[in-house]
Amino acid sequence: MAFKKITVAGAGVLGSQIAYQIALSGFQVTVYNHHIDTATRRIKALKEDYQRDMKLTDAQFQAGLDNIVKVTTDLKEAVADADYVIEALPESLDLKEKFYQELSKVAPAKTVFASNSSSFIPSQLVKYVDRPTKFLHMHFANKIWKFNVAEIMGTDQTDPKVYQEVVDFARAIKMVPIEVHKEQHGYVLNAVLMPLIGAALQLWANGVSDPETIDKDWMISTNSPMGPFMILDMVGLRTPLQMEENLAQSTDQPIHQRIADKLKTMVDADHVGQESGQGFYQDPHPAFEDPEFLKK
Ligand code: NAD
Repeated sequence: MAFKKITVAGAGVLGSQIAYQIALSGFQVTVYNHHIDTATRRIKALKEDYQRDMKLTDAQFQAGLDNIVKVTTDLKEAVADADYVIEALPESLDLKEKFYQELSKVAPAKTVFASNSSSFIPSQLVKYVDRPTKFLHMHFANKIWKFNVAEIMGTDQTDPKVYQEVVDFARAIKMVPIEVHKEQHGYVLNAVLMPLIGAALQLWANGVSDPETIDKDWMISTNSPMGPFMILDMVGLRTPLQMEENLAQSTDQPIHQRIADKLKTMVDADHVGQESGQGFYQDPHPAFEDPEFLKK
C-alpha cells in the first residue's frame, strides 16, 4: 500500500466520516480543522452510527479512534509526513483555492492530494496545486460506512500510477472504487440520479401524477427498492430546492420556478423529509411500508 499516513482536511459532515473510516481500517490519520473541539466531537459522535449499522463494540470503536493520532489547526504540522491528503472543506472555490495554494507550499513532495468536492471537477481545482500529476478527486457518499462507494476521477494530467494507488487505497478502507475515466460533473451517481429526480419533480409540479404513483410505477417497473420521491425524502428537500432555484435563475424554463415554489412550501412548513418526520411521505409509518403499497 503506497499510502500509510493520511491527513483529512476538514472534519465536518463528510470529513469526520472519512477520517474515522480510514482510521478504523488501520491507517494513521491526522485531522486538520479550524476548530479542534468540533472536529473531535463530530468524530466521536459517529459511535452510535457505527454501533447500530456496523455492530462495532465499544473496544472496536475505540481502536478506530486510537488511530486518529492528531487533530490540529496547523496545516504545516498536519501534513508534515503525509502520504495522502483528502480535502473535505466547504464547497467554496475561494476557500479551496486558498487551501490548495497553502497546502502546496507546506506538503512534502511525495504527498498526493485528493478533493471530496461534490460539485467541482478536478480541472477547476488542479490550477491551485503545485503537483498536477498527484491530484485527483475521491468522492465519498454521506454515511460512508453504509453507502461505501468512492468515485475516483482525475484530470488528463493525473499520473495513472497515482490513480491506481488511490483505487487500491479505496479498497483498503472498504470502499468500492468507482473508476470515472473522464471528467464529469456529478461523477457517475449524480449524473444518473439527478435527471431521474428532476423528471419526477417535473411530473409532480406539472400535475401529471402524484409522488406515490410515480414511485410505484418506477418501483414496480424496474424492481427498484425506492422511487425518486422516497430518495428525495431520504436526502432531504433543502438541496433540491436550492438546485431548482438556481435552475430557475439560470434558465428560462418556468417549470423550475414551479418546482421550487412547491418545494419551498414544504420546506417552510418543515416538511423536509425523513429528518423532520414529514416530506412526501409521513413518518413513523410512511405509506410505502404498507405491504400492499405496490399492489394497489
Ligand atoms: P461541512 O461544512 O460539514 O464541513 C466542513 C468542515 O471544514 C467543518 O468542520 C469546518 O469547521 C471546516 N473548515 C471550514 N473552513 C475551514 C478552513 N479554512 N480551514 C480548516 N477547516 C475549515 O461540509 P461537508 O458537508 O462535510 O462537505 C465538505 C466537502 O465534502 C464539500 O466539498 C462537499 O461538496 C463534499 N461532500 C459533501 C457531502 C455531504 O453529503 N455533506 C457528500 C459528498 C461530498
